[in-house]
Amino acid sequence: MARRLKSVEILGVRVDDVTLAEALELAAGWLRADGPRLVVTPNAEFVMRARWDLAFRKVLNGADLAIPDGFGLVWASRVLGNPIREQVPGTDFAEGLVRLAGNRYRVFFLGAGPGVAAAAASRLKAKYPGLQLAGAYPGSPHPEADAEVLRVLEAARPIDILLVAYGAPKQEFWLRRNLGRVGAKIGVGVGGAFDFFSGRVPRAPAWLRRAGFDWAFRLAVQPWRWRRQLALPAFALRVLWHRLAGHRAPDWPFPGKGE
Ligand code: UDP
Repeated sequence: MARRLKSVEILGVRVDDVTLAEALELAAGWLRADGPRLVVTPNAEFVMRARWDLAFRKVLNGADLAIPDGFGLVWASRVLGNPIREQVPGTDFAEGLVRLAGNRYRVFFLGAGPGVAAAAASRLKAKYPGLQLAGAYPGSPHPEADAEVLRVLEAARPIDILLVAYGAPKQEFWLRRNLGRVGAKIGVGVGGAFDFFSGRVPRAPAWLRRAGFDWAFRLAVQPWRWRRQLALPAFALRVLWHRLAGHRAPDWPFPGKGE
């Protein structure tokens, strides 16, 4: 793709200023070429972890595409004077990929709790009957399980799109270790997307997500998240602190390789 991606740096993490349609257009080009391409879905929790976890920061910043999954990043980009255009939830991107794959490209669902990947795949198959399912398998994000998971993936080849749901940062580390060995064209860390696709966890209505209150809904349905969600006020304070100190979110100097 000739056009350069515009990317913004939010507290050390690269976030690409793409719309959902643009992200899928990039993906469509990647499906016609040789892979693998890595897609990450940063949000405020990712950024707070990447502040101290340098290995995680490195995977995020080296990805081919970093879509703005969290509304907090859109808000931060505005506060820091370098706005990105819209939030692109990883779940919407993953579903868009399934739609894009049509009956031409094969999709594998890796991760989530027992039976969830298979349930997610079959619900999506009912919605998109053309879906070419390469397989669905929970596996495990631990490095000791890599060989066994790779054997399952090997048997499922060809795989064009690999969706990995181990939550951050496990899914990104899994992809960094293994994506090159799977033969897929696109690998994406999709977080809780299979829980939503399978219907096990209700998703916040679109209007609430657009208003930036996805976190409140998730907290209501999964109250055990409260500790993790402490990252959100910490992130907001950090952003406001930067703004008060006169910092702005700079353009990222080295946009993704997806050009
Ligand atoms: N998960 C998993 N193994 C793990 C940790 C998480 O399969 O060791 C799955 C979990 O079941 C869920 C998904 O990873 O389906 C994403 O988890 P979470 O909702 O915490 O991620 P988020 O969307 O917040 O990034």
